[in-house]
Amino acid sequence: MARIYNFSAGPSMLPEEVLKTAAAEMLEYGTTGQSVMEMSHRSKEYQAIIDEAEADLRDIMNIPDNYSVLFLQGGASTQFAMVPMNLMTKNKKADYIVTGQWAKKAYKEAARYGNARVIASSEDKTFSYIPEVTKDMIDSEADYVHICMNNTIYGTKWHSIPETGDVPLVADISSCILSEPIDVSKFGVLYAGAQKNVAPAGLTIVIIRKDLIGNAMDITPTMLNYQTHADNGSMFNTPPCYTIYIAGLVFKWIKKLGGLEEMKKINVEKASLIYDFLDSSKLFKGTVVPEARSLMNIPFVTGDSELDAKFVAEAKKAGFVNLKGHRSVGGMRASVYNAMPVEGARKLVEFMKKFEEENL
Ligand SMILES: *Cc1c(COP(=O)(O)O)cnc(C)c1O
Repeated sequence: MARIYNFSAGPSMLPEEVLKTAAAEMLEYGTTGQSVMEMSHRSKEYQAIIDEAEADLRDIMNIPDNYSVLFLQGGASTQFAMVPMNLMTKNKKADYIVTGQWAKKAYKEAARYGNARVIASSEDKTFSYIPEVTKDMIDSEADYVHICMNNTIYGTKWHSIPETGDVPLVADISSCILSEPIDVSKFGVLYAGAQKNVAPAGLTIVIIRKDLIGNAMDITPTMLNYQTHADNGSMFNTPPCYTIYIAGLVFKWIKKLGGLEEMKKINVEKASLIYDFLDSSKLFKGTVVPEARSLMNIPFVTGDSELDAKFVAEAKKAGFVNLKGHRSVGGMRASVYNAMPVEGARKLVEFMKKFEEENL
């Protein structure tokens, strides 16, 4: 069997070690005589799995005690509604910074529930940069400020977060969670769909400061109220049991590697291999301003859409899959999430060099 290098923006690669552990435990978890998939979520064996997953996540992300960790469903997209329903309740105002399609979707959803305002955007240049945001741009009466930390489609990232004073900062970290250390205490809410850096699809992680829980709008469905899940240890109803188990294995894999500082070093090494090549290439070029480059998603183009298509097709044949860029940007995109080995980035660059020699 030859495993391919999968550069998909999500769902994406999982660490081979994690898949092997899951395979070994598929028929019987420990001495339970059953797979984790078959277990009651109310069993003590499963309780241990979810408790350990939360403890390990708290450990690697250094999550302070005044934050709840929630394991939910519905994807990051459900958070686009859940955040305003739970937080846009004091002054019914929120400020959004639109740095890509996900950020824009979050804004549009919030606008259905209150007075959402776009205070900065990078849409004028196809979201290829991060706009400057200063404190005076923020409404001090806003219930929160929302950003998308890493813009999966466009390959930009906030390298420093905006200063929001007492206004809670909410961030969608779907495509950068666990890629490097993050100071959780700077945020009111962090949320992420699991399928980029954590686990298979089906799990959404929410990290929320406890004082922001319990103020939801009256119309909020029970299932969309953070309080429901915080009060019940993410077990108000059946959680995505197996996905949480895999997430737990991924957390252990990161701990074993040496935590998020080490993870960052590996991610910088991978991204640098690709960016350095793009900067020196005569055929390929990156589409993002250097100071806003993402560690996780690297879009690039040749400038000729036929040549782009040829590259994507030849790369696929050579075992580098899902390199086609998002339709709104065109060209290519290499997503190099945590589980992509350094070797994958190195081999991709070798392949790009060869393609350049043959096509220039
Ligand atoms: C993938 C992604 C989403 C959408 O996540 P779903 O879990 O599919 O709802 C939202 N925001 C960002 C930044 C993403 O990368």
